[in-house]
Amino acid sequence: MPLYEFRCAADCGPFERSFPMADVPRSVPCPGCDGDAARLVSSPRLGHGSSPATNLLDSTMRSAHEPAVVAGPPPRSSAGSSPVTTNPLHRRLPRP
Ligand SMILES: [Zn+2]
Repeated sequence: MPLYEFRCAADCGPFERSFPMADVPRSVPCPGCDGDAARLVSSPRLGHGSSPATNLLDSTMRSAHEPAVVAGPPPRSSAGSSPVTTNPLHRRLPRP
């Protein structure tokens, strides 16, 4: 169930309550003074997750608009040139 933010008509400050989306009331009793607290329009809390799936989605979305700057090719391994393929037929292909 989503969280909804309410603010008391007196000066009690905002508070949150969870309701089903179909049954959310326009006002609820304030937990501080039992007065009338109206529902507020607030932003959804998207992107607050820190799971690996959420991080992957965030980095994928970010890279679509802000690709990482690359200064050069990736560093080669210290063991020399490693073959790209192990198929012996590829050794007879012409070299650039
Ligand atoms: Zn109140």
